[in-house]
Amino acid sequence: MPDSPPVTILYVVSSPHSGSTVLSTILGSHPDIFFAGELYEIPEPAWIPGVTCSCGKPAATCDFWRPVRKRFERTADVEALHRDEGNYRNWKSLPRVLLGRTPAAADFPQYAARLETLVRSIATESGKRIIVDTSKGGTRGRAYLEAASPSLQVKVLHVVRDGRGVVLSRRNREARVVETGGYKPHATLRYSLLWVGANLSYVLLFGLRRDRYLRVRLEDFTRDPDRAFDRIARFLSIDLSGVRDQVKAGAAFPVGHVIAGNRLRLSGAVRMRPEASEWTTQLPRADQRLFAIVAGWTARLFGYS
Ligand SMILES: [Zn+2]
Repeated sequence: MPDSPPVTILYVVSSPHSGSTVLSTILGSHPDIFFAGELYEIPEPAWIPGVTCSCGKPAATCDFWRPVRKRFERTADVEALHRDEGNYRNWKSLPRVLLGRTPAAADFPQYAARLETLVRSIATESGKRIIVDTSKGGTRGRAYLEAASPSLQVKVLHVVRDGRGVVLSRRNREARVVETGGYKPHATLRYSLLWVGANLSYVLLFGLRRDRYLRVRLEDFTRDPDRAFDRIARFLSIDLSGVRDQVKAGAAFPVGHVIAGNRLRLSGAVRMRPEASEWTTQLPRADQRLFAIVAGWTARLFGYS
């Protein structure tokens, strides 16, 4: 696509419950940025009947996603994209992605072309040049980096939230989901290890690409919003002062057209919460100590005490 204006995919990675949906929704209020949700769910389940877009309409008839799909299908095949998502979904496919455009990579170039067609279809229909994908998978992020070209720029934003807040949030969610109430045994150990594993894997996969990788801490957006938004603004070469001022004023940000991802997308609007430190009182002392033993060194690496 040599004559097309360049589009940028902003690929957001984070451990679950780290605020990436809220931050992406807020960034999506900028006139040049479109928050698309978790794009790995396209075409399935996002484009199958029964899925509701955050605008309230079925995804199949939504005023935004229906034309996106039409545009995609002008030059690419939905069935092939479906096969790609099966072939390249998980960690096992990472070696094939890392081989990228070498002859050994077999069908990767076609996958890369379909990824770009999808991103470009969204950019054209939204009229925006930066598309936010919060799929989070490391393999997909590397696939984007391998697919990068003069017409497709790729940036990775790694959002880290204090692991103790993540553990508390995931335990609370589990307690709501499990009807019997109470936590599963070892929940804190498991969530602490998952927090370490996810965040370290993102550092290993993306952290060396300093021109394409930025790590931010969720807490910095309430502690020092000027600096936090300024870092993203420089990373993306855009002016985020309007967005930053709205966050500082406590504004609510409407979710728009998001057909896949976090359930927050169906809540209509989101706000940047004041710094969440419930864990200091709600996460039992013994669990705080367990987190410190399992994850303390990683937390310090990210600047947490
Ligand atoms: Zn919609």
